[in-house]
Amino acid sequence: MKELLQLQNDILYGPLNSRRLGRSLGLNLLPTTFKLCSMNCCYCQYGWTTELTAKTADAGELPTANEVAAALKSVLQTGETFDYLTFSGNGEATLHPEFTQIVDIILEMRLAFKANFKLALLSNGTTAGDPALRHAFDKIDLPIIKLDAGNEKTFKRVNHGVPPIKLADILSGIKTLKNIVIQTMFVQGSIDNSTDKEVSTWIERLQEIRPRWVQIYSLDRGTADKNLQVVEQQRLQQIADMLESRTGIISEVY
Ligand code: SF4
Repeated sequence: MKELLQLQNDILYGPLNSRRLGRSLGLNLLPTTFKLCSMNCCYCQYGWTTELTAKTADAGELPTANEVAAALKSVLQTGETFDYLTFSGNGEATLHPEFTQIVDIILEMRLAFKANFKLALLSNGTTAGDPALRHAFDKIDLPIIKLDAGNEKTFKRVNHGVPPIKLADILSGIKTLKNIVIQTMFVQGSIDNSTDKEVSTWIERLQEIRPRWVQIYSLDRGTADKNLQVVEQQRLQQIADMLESRTGIISEVY
């Protein structure tokens, strides 16, 4: 059985060679000693969520905007290059109370250092409907939002969003954003979101969202729920083909 990932113990980590982003420098705005997230996904590579909350996180536990700027500056000064700087790490980055300021600081530093990296965000979408964050989402080159289910029942079983968050809330938030990419994890075993029935409702939701494209993948690391199984590449490709033939939306299978 594959191991869970250790929590990231710093603000920046990598650059790592990512299946989806090339050479990616990870940016962790979350605590370094526990996972803080508004979801508790069965497949999370960091294990089950320690602090499940939809509220903006307590600033005392998190790096400040100034600390993030200092960490990035020290990397850029070395001349290190990478394709993406990616908000990811130990939970949901957009719960950071200074998220919008941090996006602005990074974009200013990119200009000042004449750096070529793009800014990416891996988000579960629970804050997508927050008007205070909308501009920040829109400034990010590659905002990637999770959508693993097309109905409330499966959303609950796969993602365990913090109550009272519903899939419908996330979807209405996502629809207010521009230029988003959707990322979907398919799993089998104790939970299966890869059946024809599940895939059909998922495709219906994607038809409503109309993302730029969809990233489709299955398990690669250890998971919180130990009874999950990987969905084979052939089935992932079938799902991608169904999506494209029914909606014209293209996808990448990893
Ligand atoms: S949203 Fe991401 S960090 Fe949060 S539980 Fe799910 S996979 Fe883990």
